[in-house]
Amino acid sequence: MLKQPLFIGSEIYRGSSYGGLHPLRVPRVSTVMDLSRALGWLPDAQYVTSPRAKPKALWAFHTPEYVSALARAERRGVVSDLERDQFQLGTHSNPVFAEMFRRPATGAGGVMLAGELLSNGGIVHVPGGGTHHGMPDRANGFCYLNDPVLAIKSLQHHGAERVAYIDIDAHHPDGVEVEFSVDPSVRMISVHEEKRWPFTGALEETAGGSSFNLPVPRGLNDSEMRVVQEELIVPAVDIFAPDAIVLQCGSDAIEEDPLSRLSLSNNAHAEIAKSLMNMSPRLMVLGGGGYNPWSVGRCWTRIWGVLNDQKMPTRLSKNAESVLRDLRFEGNSRGRSPPEHWCTTLADQPNEGPIRNEIRARIDALRARF
Ligand SMILES: [Zn+2]
Repeated sequence: MLKQPLFIGSEIYRGSSYGGLHPLRVPRVSTVMDLSRALGWLPDAQYVTSPRAKPKALWAFHTPEYVSALARAERRGVVSDLERDQFQLGTHSNPVFAEMFRRPATGAGGVMLAGELLSNGGIVHVPGGGTHHGMPDRANGFCYLNDPVLAIKSLQHHGAERVAYIDIDAHHPDGVEVEFSVDPSVRMISVHEEKRWPFTGALEETAGGSSFNLPVPRGLNDSEMRVVQEELIVPAVDIFAPDAIVLQCGSDAIEEDPLSRLSLSNNAHAEIAKSLMNMSPRLMVLGGGGYNPWSVGRCWTRIWGVLNDQKMPTRLSKNAESVLRDLRFEGNSRGRSPPEHWCTTLADQPNEGPIRNEIRARIDALRARF
């Protein structure tokens, strides 16, 4: 049993970018590391440098042909038309960039190590993980490898028999659902924006009983997410009685994210993480989407604080504030004059609101399957 939560990170995230105006041009994991250290929340004893997964280890989910193609694309810095078509590499979504193999392989190595470190229980945070769209034989939706699948497999390999996978990213985890469809040892619960890419994850889509999919309408607020947490996520996990939980904590459902139209504050993420902390012996928290550099850095740092029972500062110290002041959001109007609280606080103002009937009705439909 781990004595204290561990944070698995890497310097590979610092300065690495998908390039151009790609949503993943912004720093994320490095911000969380810097901010957590500035707050005194990340002593060396809790930090683990992520190993890079060996190609063979990735075969646990990905085809050897695809893994080779990905490594080759990084080496050459270019892909052929055939490779682009076959593996979806070198596309607008999944561009060729300098660390296109090493960076996702580091995320994958981190979650696989986390599965091992959690053999006897504990909490591990891997904010570089969470790339839930990756497919066995191709890149998909900014995801070159599917580390959540590899995380679940690693937990299983190291003794977990029942894994609950909770995904609160704005997008549906299509790659994860593909792998664990009809698998009674994995329960997936996903809350995602309806009518949004990848357009999977309909309410009726059960993946042979393994998935509970809750598509939500635009503008999802904190009050609605609390109902989702209390009426769907917590009871669905409780009844399943997992011995491991993986929380994909994408932060693109936060109000000011440029890629989705949900309106959560990071209080929703903090409350959900907290609610899952004592529901199984093992908890692995991953990152995921999140394309506003301030929201994502603050959200995941806050999550790390929650996992460690840290008291949230009402105002950040000067050195923590300077981490946020130094962020840039080139090519997005949100970056021109970031509101003061993006640089001086960690906790958002709550965004409470009415609870729409359609959300209640969908939760009821899923509860009927408990
Ligand atoms: Zn997303």
